[in-house]
Amino acid sequence: MGLFALLWTQACGACSQESGGTAAGDRFAAERARMVEWQIAARGVRDPRVLDALRTVPRHLFVPPALAADAYGDGPLPIGHGQTISQPYIVALMTELVRPAPTDRVLEIGTGSGYQAAVLAGLVSHVYTIEIVEPLARDSTQRLRELGMQNVTVRAGDGYGGWPEMAPFDIIVVTAAPPKVPPALLEQLKDGGRLIIPVGREFSVQKLQLIEKSSSGELRTTDIAPVRFVPLQRSR
Ligand code: SAH
Repeated sequence: MGLFALLWTQACGACSQESGGTAAGDRFAAERARMVEWQIAARGVRDPRVLDALRTVPRHLFVPPALAADAYGDGPLPIGHGQTISQPYIVALMTELVRPAPTDRVLEIGTGSGYQAAVLAGLVSHVYTIEIVEPLARDSTQRLRELGMQNVTVRAGDGYGGWPEMAPFDIIVVTAAPPKVPPALLEQLKDGGRLIIPVGREFSVQKLQLIEKSSSGELRTTDIAPVRFVPLQRSR
């Protein structure tokens, strides 16, 4: 099959899913298919459900309108308030590593634009997400509502202590870097659960770590890759 045919198939796969509610047949579908092919699959992300999610979520609606044309580029972008939407590959990698299953309940710390939450929302049963910058929490709530995503709950506040009322979680995704893994997040992870988190100081390279809790509650940490995230702020 030629490259053209391959891209066509992928773009159409995205269209049929989008008619289910996100952004029917938008003009960026082909760019999204290319993003998945050349930035994400090419770097080794294989899970077909994750690739489909990245092909479906309209990333251009999660960046400031002036940057919509850059939304499918191979990097992070500013979303205001000194914050960023992560590089598509990093979103895909983190999503694949936590092995999302349809019945999973997920906690995300650092809603930002809501893009990572939207990617997860198509793969799990519910996403609870916390954002410390209030206007970002407000905007992402509205954006996710407009996209018809009913299984995401956004809370404005400090996510350092997790969300005890909704715990435990099968998956925890942290998209801002603390110097050390917050103990509350380890406590709120179910036995058998997966936590992905960038760990390290601001202005230095951080380590993306996958922490898995066994069925008997033991933790196993795997260093995945050097990354650079905005710092996890503390409200007190
Ligand atoms: N997941 C986001 C990327 C966000 S960047 C996306 O897909 O767009 C990290 C976000 O974490 C920023 O918006 C920042 O304001 C937020 N953040 C930083 N410290 C936080 C904290 N303690 N609790 C909740 N959110 C926090």
